[in-house]
Amino acid sequence: MIKKLVVLLVLALTSLAQAEEAKKNLLIIAGRPSHGVGAHEHNAGALLFKKCLDESGLPVTTTVILNGGWPEREQLAAADTVVIYADGGPHHPLLQDDRMEQLAEEIKRGCGLVCIHYAVEIPKENGGPELLGWMGGYFETHWSVNPHWTADFKSFPKHPISNGLTPYTILDEWYFHMRFAEEGKLTHILAATAPEETMSRRDGPHSGNPHVRQAVAEGLPQTVAWAFERPDGGRGFGFTGGHFHKNWGDDNQRKVVLNAILWTAKAEVPAEGVPSTITSEDLEKNLDPVRSAELDRSAKPVLPDHNADPAICAACRG
Ligand SMILES: [Zn+2]
Repeated sequence: MIKKLVVLLVLALTSLAQAEEAKKNLLIIAGRPSHGVGAHEHNAGALLFKKCLDESGLPVTTTVILNGGWPEREQLAAADTVVIYADGGPHHPLLQDDRMEQLAEEIKRGCGLVCIHYAVEIPKENGGPELLGWMGGYFETHWSVNPHWTADFKSFPKHPISNGLTPYTILDEWYFHMRFAEEGKLTHILAATAPEETMSRRDGPHSGNPHVRQAVAEGLPQTVAWAFERPDGGRGFGFTGGHFHKNWGDDNQRKVVLNAILWTAKAEVPAEGVPSTITSEDLEKNLDPVRSAELDRSAKPVLPDHNADPAICAACRG
């Protein structure tokens, strides 16, 4: 009798251990505060994703690194996908120290990569080739643009990231006209026709160029979120929205990113997508502190509150 119980206990523990092992490790890296309240809320956004993933009941473990921090080597080595929600361009987290080399090692073994909003932008000569190869596309200055506009997503391609999505319309700072990879398998998950007003600014690194003007004039659909399968099988996802924190309150906006995090980790995406419910109180939690002189501003200048006037935001990065 005791023997039988011991055998049963060992079996139970073994299957428990196997279930733990089968769990996908999701690593979310949130950048430091940079904008006014309610915009570029990297910390609050990352914690919201973790809450949704923790409560989803799916076999995943989600680790969040806050405030511009960087994971330990062991955390990176254990990650099935790395999500970066942070300010990018010349201040991209991957451009500090030897982080690009660290991530390159993980990418080589098949780790996924998701970049959200400003994190899809990196200098063409410094990080451009890496993001292009790992994520299939990135914001290239003098080629891509960053206007605020209301995108109307009418349909979605057949892809696990589209699971459970329904047509939706939402105002965001939707960057578009990304530089895309020529090799690998690219799927345009979110695309919409950009209105003429998106071209109302003069040419500049983020505001306009002849190539994008022609594409908008022709009414071509503009991709703002894409899935990528690298030639070696690794996966990437880029999402250009995410300027306004309140947009994570939209079920579709949240679902497409949560689905993508799973997909890049090579986890199965439920047929109806990742289930999640959040309240308006949830959206008020973990917001970055009101800006003060004491805040570490070393990497970025203080920017105006974009909620007051969306046009200011477009102007602040030229
Ligand atoms: Zn923004």
